[in-house]
Amino acid sequence: MKDYVRLTGVAASEGIAIGPAFAYVPGDLKPERENISEDVVGEELESFRNAVKAVVRKLSETADGLRESGGEGEAGIFDAHVEMAEDPELHSGVEERVRDLQSPEAAVISVGEEFAEMFAATEDEYLSARAEDVRDVAYQIAAEIMGGEDAGIEMLDKPSVVLARNLAPSDTVNIPKGMALGFVIAEGSRTSHVSIMARSMGLPAVVGVGRALEEALAAEVVALDGAEGYAVVDPDPATISSFEEKQKNIAAEAALLKEYKHGQVRTREGRRIEVVANIGSAQEAEGALERGAEGVGLFRTEFLFMERPELPTEEEQYEAYRKVVKSFGEKPVIIRTLDVGGDKDLPGVDQPEEENPFLGWRGIRMSLDTPELFKPQLRAILRAATHGNLKIMFPMVVDADELRAAKKVLEECRRELENEGSRFNEVEIGVMVETPAAAICAADIAPEVSFFSIGTNDLIQYTLAADRGNERLRRLQSADHPAVLSLIGRTCEAAREAGIWVGVCGEAAGEPAMVPKLIELGVTELSMSAPAIPRVKKIISGL
Ligand code: PEP
Ligand code: MG
Repeated sequence: MKDYVRLTGVAASEGIAIGPAFAYVPGDLKPERENISEDVVGEELESFRNAVKAVVRKLSETADGLRESGGEGEAGIFDAHVEMAEDPELHSGVEERVRDLQSPEAAVISVGEEFAEMFAATEDEYLSARAEDVRDVAYQIAAEIMGGEDAGIEMLDKPSVVLARNLAPSDTVNIPKGMALGFVIAEGSRTSHVSIMARSMGLPAVVGVGRALEEALAAEVVALDGAEGYAVVDPDPATISSFEEKQKNIAAEAALLKEYKHGQVRTREGRRIEVVANIGSAQEAEGALERGAEGVGLFRTEFLFMERPELPTEEEQYEAYRKVVKSFGEKPVIIRTLDVGGDKDLPGVDQPEEENPFLGWRGIRMSLDTPELFKPQLRAILRAATHGNLKIMFPMVVDADELRAAKKVLEECRRELENEGSRFNEVEIGVMVETPAAAICAADIAPEVSFFSIGTNDLIQYTLAADRGNERLRRLQSADHPAVLSLIGRTCEAAREAGIWVGVCGEAAGEPAMVPKLIELGVTELSMSAPAIPRVKKIISGL
């Protein structure tokens, strides 16, 4: 009989953590004074403005520090906080209240709260997630006015599993180094800030556990599995042993790493298979290399666009791509152009309400319709290509016409760069085969590209008409279905005829049971999340 509480949520960052629980439940910050007298209005306005300046300075320092250590995405979060702190509407709202004799700390808390409620009420997932950010910024200003920091998470003094309703980015960076073993969070999704930060800090995290977290706040010990997406509160000895066992397995797998780290792998028949990584940010490059990635088979660029309120500029994209390509030296890095829509919304772009977003305006469809979005990305990629072995691929393509349209825009970008005298390099072009249409038309597309990369996640969902996020359809979420295998086989056949190579960058590439089947069908590159690399290299060498 199990005697513990289990919290189930979203697998936000993989790894196992077992340790003392630290419940971080910041109390609502209370203003020291509600009202002020008329003769100090001028002084209090000054104190508010000084507090804003101090908070902006701290936030900017944090952003600069993150940027220097390669955390471009996280730095963007703090840039956005600076903008919130400097927001003219926030200022005029607070100053008006101070003139009406409310204390500045009470005014900034209440105006921040109203802004937060307004954000929380929007339908837009990104904007509603910003409610916490604006609340956080207002609290920081209020705490500054009251002459001190909001004491809390920075007091953590022994390595612990942090339990919280939410963790604002300012909380995460305030955790003393080495004191967080992992996170269990009530709110959030895989793309919320706490998840992004956890992955870049290499800490296991389960988010979105909901109200069940309340039952865990008094826990002494918590064990969590960030790959499976669950945590156990006050686990019994048997459960602790099973988590320790999992930890040992992960460590054993890490030991394999040494053996395969620098090695290229071949099947016993001598077929060379490239094992490369899927990454979502420049910060993941180092970890992928350490785990033995022979390159990047899929750089999902959308996170660069989603982690912040405005679109990244061409220059910011260039920097992010350059960093990755440089880290990989001669090794290939395949950058996938923006693939939002479906389950991924893009802040800063007016996306239509769609009845079936997965069958809607996503991937290359959106890029072709919005050159103002597409061209800066293509220009940044062409420029970054001067620093290494960079390739480009287009997502959600359904036929050769779409590919040609995309190539035309790429050609325009080349010409523009040439006319401006900017340095750039040629890039090989590939297409993701993730719609049944692309697999069926593979013979038409193949002569016009250098490679195919099969996105099994979408290929499965579109072939089997089974939403990739629907828990009840798990049985249908496998590449090991005759219809899917047949489309993969057809794609490989077309590629062979045209003399180009085929990779797989969907989850199937890292599934031990699928590896031999994909290789048998003719796939020669497998791209997966970095932790799966040593395991897959081992399987290939034994084939
Ligand atoms: C895929 O569809 O298999 C794929 C790799 O793309 P994403 O998961 O980003 O849609
Ligand atoms: Mg896809």
